[in-house]
Amino acid sequence: IVDIKGLKKSFGENVVLKNIDFSVQPSQVVVIIGPSGSGKSTFLRCMNGLETAEGGTVVVSGHPVVENGRMMPEAKLDEMRAEVGMVFQSFNLFPHLTVLDNITLAPTCLRGVPRKAAEEQGMRLLKKVGLDHKAKVYPGTLSGGQKQRVAIARALAMEPKVMLFDEPTSALDPELVGEVLQVMKDLAAEGMTMLIVTHEMGFAREVADVVVVMDHGSIVEAGAPADIFTAPKEARTRSFLQTML
Ligand code: ATP
Ligand code: MG
Repeated sequence: IVDIKGLKKSFGENVVLKNIDFSVQPSQVVVIIGPSGSGKSTFLRCMNGLETAEGGTVVVSGHPVVENGRMMPEAKLDEMRAEVGMVFQSFNLFPHLTVLDNITLAPTCLRGVPRKAAEEQGMRLLKKVGLDHKAKVYPGTLSGGQKQRVAIARALAMEPKVMLFDEPTSALDPELVGEVLQVMKDLAAEGMTMLIVTHEMGFAREVADVVVVMDHGSIVEAGAPADIFTAPKEARTRSFLQTML
């Protein structure tokens, strides 16, 4: 469902992604780990065309994003983005809209879903993330964990084929991390295809099908969590995991 060959990305002189090959099968949960600055966020952002790649080919959910180093035009990228949900460290909810209106905005405006249907779906999604009682409040009154769960529900409202998460729990107080991870676990159990950048190693071990270790713009190693965490092949993986203890 995600196919990446020879992906290259630089910022000026700084080569941030060096020739990345990677693919993701439907319903796989891929956790990406690695030191700060290794290119994890840039890698995710290249998948939905938020960064302009200079080389390689990226296809997401059947939509080309980059073809032999050429970015697809914005109109094409928008078709792909309609099928790819993204959740960031900061929640980016619209502060002037209620929780429910945050969720119904994209389906009603971009997809022409009638308001009533969008609201029914929105309530279903809020229930799924345990926040149906917060539908009518404004995001400013929510905790960080609640905001992030609304952000996830909002992404799900577009019925994405793939969900990208960039450190979704890093901005949260420790006691709020679990509720967001639980929502992600539920999604994984339902078969959602997910790529997740996180420092939550326990979550990675429990939920990931594949763990990808990045360093200096390359994939150092990728494999089942049991292998990566208990028998890493690469010295760079071992030294990164040591820093996480
Ligand atoms: P972290 O764990 O700190 O989030 P990361 O693995 O997500 O790190 P990236 O954010 O992808 O790393 O950054 C990779 C490299 O690209 C870094 O050297 C960073 O300085 C550089 N970089 C990222 N975004 C930009 C930008 N918009 N302009 C210039 N350089 C950038
Ligand atoms: Mg990052």
